[in-house]
Amino acid sequence: MNVILHICCGVCAAGAAHVLLAEGHRVTGYFYNPNIYPEEEYRLRLEAARRTAEKLKFELAAGPYDVENWNVATAALGGEPEGGARCSICYRMRLEKTFSFMRERGCDAFTSTFTSTLTISPHKPASEINRIGMEIGGVNFMSRDFKKKDGFKKAMEKARSWELYRQNYCGCIYSLQGVRK
Ligand code: SF4
Repeated sequence: MNVILHICCGVCAAGAAHVLLAEGHRVTGYFYNPNIYPEEEYRLRLEAARRTAEKLKFELAAGPYDVENWNVATAALGGEPEGGARCSICYRMRLEKTFSFMRERGCDAFTSTFTSTLTISPHKPASEINRIGMEIGGVNFMSRDFKKKDGFKKAMEKARSWELYRQNYCGCIYSLQGVRK
């Protein structure tokens, strides 16, 4: 299959893209993460994603850094805990854009699918991400849980060996504030 892989960062891509490529899929990465704050952090993660794409030899495209849209969508949910309603909106926004990217590219619905690196994180429930993905893309969404079979551990090992940038918070200003407390 042609897989459009939403990529949240270089580390998660190192694990998820490796698995998909090993399964014989053709991977196109799509970096779309308007949730990331501040912009310097966004650039670090995008650069790490580019390095992963180079290492694993897959194409990577980057979407817009439309922070304003993300801020508006989550404005009332700043007090939500990580994993709560704000995160569901954040997942949805990124998956919707990835599906749009797939359609803009004219990908054939029978031979193409989309999914996300997000499920590799031990802090993110694959069930919720997959539920949203299925709502958006139906049969065009590939439900996965990349954290299975030590997926996250293997991704970290690759990231260390490639000396990739590794962040210590999920991405948004609220998750950054949580780390600093
Ligand atoms: S904690 Fe992570 S998933 Fe949740 S809203 Fe912030 S960046 Fe998005």
